[in-house]
Amino acid sequence: MKAAVLRKGRGLVVEDLPMLEIDDDQVLIKVANTGFCGSDHSLIEGEGALDGTVFGHEMAGTVVKVGPHVTDVKEGTRAILRPTYCNSCPGCRSGRFQLCSNNRRSIGIGDLPGGFAEYVKAYPQMVIPVPDNVDSQSAALAECYAVALHGINLTGANDGSALVIGAGTIGLAVVKLLKVKGFSPIVISEPVAEKRELAKQFGADIVLDPFKDNLIAEAFQINNGCGFSSVYECSGIKSQLAEAINLAGPGGKVCLLSVLHEDVPINTTNLMFKEVELYSSYGNTHTENIQCLKWISEGVLDPLPLISDWCTLDELPGVYRNRINTGQAIKVMLKIGEEF
Ligand SMILES: [Zn+2]
Ligand SMILES: [Zn+2]
Repeated sequence: MKAAVLRKGRGLVVEDLPMLEIDDDQVLIKVANTGFCGSDHSLIEGEGALDGTVFGHEMAGTVVKVGPHVTDVKEGTRAILRPTYCNSCPGCRSGRFQLCSNNRRSIGIGDLPGGFAEYVKAYPQMVIPVPDNVDSQSAALAECYAVALHGINLTGANDGSALVIGAGTIGLAVVKLLKVKGFSPIVISEPVAEKRELAKQFGADIVLDPFKDNLIAEAFQINNGCGFSSVYECSGIKSQLAEAINLAGPGGKVCLLSVLHEDVPINTTNLMFKEVELYSSYGNTHTENIQCLKWISEGVLDPLPLISDWCTLDELPGVYRNRINTGQAIKVMLKIGEEF
């Protein structure tokens, strides 16, 4: 089967790999579409990933084979995949399955090869069925929106003014879901003009340029002399966590959805005197993925405008060099097998 494989020193290389064999307790899925995630980019550019890794976890496809010990997933099921969890470690016992520390199994970032390939194998607990009226590209994007939903859910904020810092993939998804959930006004801070325009299309009420606008002054004007009720850091720029805290109002909630990779200084006085609540968001839950699929199915959420580029597996190495690694693409959607 064809796959885009990480080769150390060469980056992504398209290869013909042996067809996957499934164990008795696994299922085989024929991949329709896989989205290229920011974390795939970080892992490819980082040092940690092993030579030969197949990435890709934002996958939608159809179950084509089930092992003899699998009872709850049928052949023909259209599915997306999320990691399994043990249900007994401290993370799982607190209901936070994404923090499972015990034998967590996932595709593309864990022990099983990922969706930059014609087939993937998975455990049935990983399978989330896709509603009949949801197409495979939309389904492949559900996980990305679930990341955004997880950040919003963690803060417990349900309405009020919201600021999103950074209009990349996650920032745009956060804007869209804040709109779905009825937050107002939704403000975005983004230095790139095209991305500010995109944020408007995603539902931002006010767009700000952090290099031109005085964000503190704007925050106070927009919110009648207060800061924002909730602020979502999605830029990955290290100065922006402190900025997010400065821009939050009294009792405001700040959620870190980006990976900053470095220690950053924050104004703890500001944090304390406003009783700002600081959250960090990691991954998402099955429930949040199911919720996003439901919103897509109901027509509440159109995930597709996130896609900036489409490509085949053969084209991925070139698209990676020219569009992903240069920061020009928002979301690359791979067209791999028969789409639904
Ligand atoms: Zn992802
Ligand atoms: Zn666990």
